Amino acid sequence: MKTFYITTTLPYVNAEPHIGFAMELIQADVIARYHAQLGDEVVFNTGTDEHGVKIYSKAIEQGKDPQDYVDEYAEKFKNLVKVLNLSSTNFIRTTDDYHKKSAQEFWKRCLANSDIYKASYKIKYCTGCELEKTDSELADGKCGLHPNLQIEEREEENYFFKFSKFQKSLLKFYEDNPTFVLPDFRFNEIKRFVEGGLNDFSISRLKSKMPWGIEVPGDPEQVVYVWFDALINYVSTLGWPFDPAQGKPDMFSDFWPGTQVAGKDNLRQQSAIWQAMLMSAGLPNSKQILIHGFINIDGQKMSKSLGNVTNPFPLVEKYGVDVLRYFLLREIPSTEDGDFSEEKLVARYNGDLANGLGNLVARVATLLSNNFNEGFEFDEKLVDSETNQAIQDFITKYKVSIENFKLHEVLIAVWELIARADKYVNDNKPWALAKKDTEKFKIVMTNLVEMIYHITKTLAPFMPETSGKISDVFDFKKEEAGLEGRRLKVRKGGVLFPRIEQ
Ligand SMILES: [Zn+2]
Repeated sequence: MKTFYITTTLPYVNAEPHIGFAMELIQADVIARYHAQLGDEVVFNTGTDEHGVKIYSKAIEQGKDPQDYVDEYAEKFKNLVKVLNLSSTNFIRTTDDYHKKSAQEFWKRCLANSDIYKASYKIKYCTGCELEKTDSELADGKCGLHPNLQIEEREEENYFFKFSKFQKSLLKFYEDNPTFVLPDFRFNEIKRFVEGGLNDFSISRLKSKMPWGIEVPGDPEQVVYVWFDALINYVSTLGWPFDPAQGKPDMFSDFWPGTQVAGKDNLRQQSAIWQAMLMSAGLPNSKQILIHGFINIDGQKMSKSLGNVTNPFPLVEKYGVDVLRYFLLREIPSTEDGDFSEEKLVARYNGDLANGLGNLVARVATLLSNNFNEGFEFDEKLVDSETNQAIQDFITKYKVSIENFKLHEVLIAVWELIARADKYVNDNKPWALAKKDTEKFKIVMTNLVEMIYHITKTLAPFMPETSGKISDVFDFKKEEAGLEGRRLKVRKGGVLFPRIEQ
């Protein structure tokens, strides 16, 4: 059996889950479900990033124990996984014991390869990003993403990671793996960054100043820097390094290397820093990094200061999970920035879901259930060559789109097929044929069922609940590869998407 491993980034638990991370989860879920549909054994990882100064200060500010604080937030993200109907198999927290041990072992291997050294450390630091900032990254001495925060100057003895050593190996690796980062323009961006030269960076903090982290092996005065610790989750979640005493199965040898989905703000960490860390620890590089854009709200950047950070929970409650999934996957191009507004969501709902998919399913199901009381016997030979060709083209298109991380293009293709089926109904008027030409009626209905079958199957990773409902109405059986020889007990479907009046 083929294995497939996909992971999201881990959100930092200093804020409520927002719609941008919901989109990342949903994108990863589509790819995970697609691979499961192909018959692969799938591991789908997500979780929470729980160390670092930002969390430590927030907890202190609220008079809470940091562990209690992160426990509270981890629950919210676990709940998000449930509410979004994700097929994830793993939920890792970087405060989990097995992760801490894995991170320490990873550190030891980098140290053994002479890629970690101690030096004095003086930098400009943005506590909003939890990142060092070079002068070129600052505008008027402020971080572009956090203009309200003061940039801090810091100096202390820290451990450093020899990032500079990996410039050549990274460039060689990129050259050997021409689709390592998708989309292309992000890949070019990271290549230019690495070509520009790499600076070693600090990977520890003094425990006396900031105790909320994993202890550096062999130095109880230091804790591991939050980014260095968090990135290791992608392998610790697979049980690396396998230790029977840990009680976690060894999935690393079967599932690594994996595919990673991340936002454009994570490009450098995932496709350069993490890759250099893997090289240093002597582990294989990731398989692929898929980079998505940001969601704007009503045309504006989502930000705390604008007060427009959109929470996915009430949207799911109001419209249903598949409506939010559909909107985010269809309206926002997978690798670009896109815009969210409730108005746009309602427009997509009424146009694409109520009038498009819902209407087609209802029309065809009603015709079948009214005219074939004993079930509709499906005969593949009755599918005409135009329909067959359209479906073949459709399948080719959706495979190419999904492999190239263009999930919105799959949905465009599905809705083209829906439009084709609608036109086919209007052109052939099956309700009239049912009375005067039963042979022709059977042919028309066979072609429609064939189209709806492929629509339903393709939609399953995108809108699992809706796809399941359509399968129930049409008596499609999930485990079967086709419909040949089936007698479908089609029933009248209820209204999948009742129109929303505006
Ligand atoms: Zn910042």
